[in-house]
Amino acid sequence: MFDAILIEKPEANQTVSLTQVNPDQLPEGDVRVDVVYSTLNYKDALAITGISPVVRSFPMVPGIDFSGIVRESAHPEYKPGDRVILNGWGVGEKHWGGLAKQARVKGDWLVPLPDGLSLRQSMAIGTAGYTAMLCVQALERHGLRPEDGEIVVSGAAGGVGSVATALLAARGFEVAAVTGRMSEAAYLKSLGAATIIEREELSGKGRPLAKERWAGGIDVAGSQVLANMLSAIKYQGAVAACGLAAGMDLPATVAPFILRGVSLIGVDSVMCPLPDRQAAWAGLARDLDKSKLDAMTVEVPFSNVIETAPKFLKGNVRGRIVVPVAAE
Ligand code: NAP
Repeated sequence: MFDAILIEKPEANQTVSLTQVNPDQLPEGDVRVDVVYSTLNYKDALAITGISPVVRSFPMVPGIDFSGIVRESAHPEYKPGDRVILNGWGVGEKHWGGLAKQARVKGDWLVPLPDGLSLRQSMAIGTAGYTAMLCVQALERHGLRPEDGEIVVSGAAGGVGSVATALLAARGFEVAAVTGRMSEAAYLKSLGAATIIEREELSGKGRPLAKERWAGGIDVAGSQVLANMLSAIKYQGAVAACGLAAGMDLPATVAPFILRGVSLIGVDSVMCPLPDRQAAWAGLARDLDKSKLDAMTVEVPFSNVIETAPKFLKGNVRGRIVVPVAAE
């Protein structure tokens, strides 16, 4: 038996508990992993609180990501003792996830822990940080370079935003950090932000085309924030959009696209193909300043995850939460 957070839905309402499960209950997969670290992401908080229908089947172990050590493997790429990372693929949504001491998954979903990162650092980065890197790489693939101008990042004090800010700064970009928490201005500057913008400024209904202000953007908010961001992107710039913290809608016009050649690039971390994942993790291992990563990370004990989830959704968690599931 091993410890796991289990979401059950015997009736209309779901229940969540830290309980014991039998390894026989693990879902199918060709690699069994001893989980060492997991995290608390936005999606995990939605799953644990049940606020949004993230969980597709019950009972479910939440946790969309984990790092750990292979215990047994029938996959040709992995053997016992290998250090691995898992993000996405519906894990923690429709396949039991990382908030448990063991997980069984498809080996094809795993990424070997890159050189230069510890198991803890990989989960301090977690899905949020890896998504931030996918966004940065999407902007660079579009052709954006530091000399093109400032990059605007929304939700900058959150998980994706904190890592995006630090990564962009490490790659030489000037960052304009948008936050609803001006009390975090010093923190955002310590991550490398050059300009701090109050979220209010991007939250109201704006014009279809505003003054050209930023070369590009990374948006975790959607809704009016993304619409206003798009309207102020410079000619042939781009925004990488990955989130919906403000809403699922997009009250925009086509004006930025057809009059300024602006691109809107969608970023998905869940089904992202393996080569893109490996490139993102390699880039994170190489470029992310580990002291900045430490500064944006808080640790929540495995036994406190359930009570922390609702606080997370109130938006008052700074940076990343790492969950030590077992001793390394
Ligand atoms: P997080 O740590 O909770 O950060 C979200 C941040 O958004 C908050 O800290 C806050 O930052 C800001 N925010 C909150 N409410 C807002 C509002 N109404 N308007 C504008 N900004 C608001 O969450 P996260 O892990 O970074 O994830 C951010 C978003 O990305 C979520 O929607 C998540 O589902 C999505 N995501 C998507 C993928 C993907 O594969 N596409 C992967 C990971 C995450 P400030 O206090 O600084 O304003």
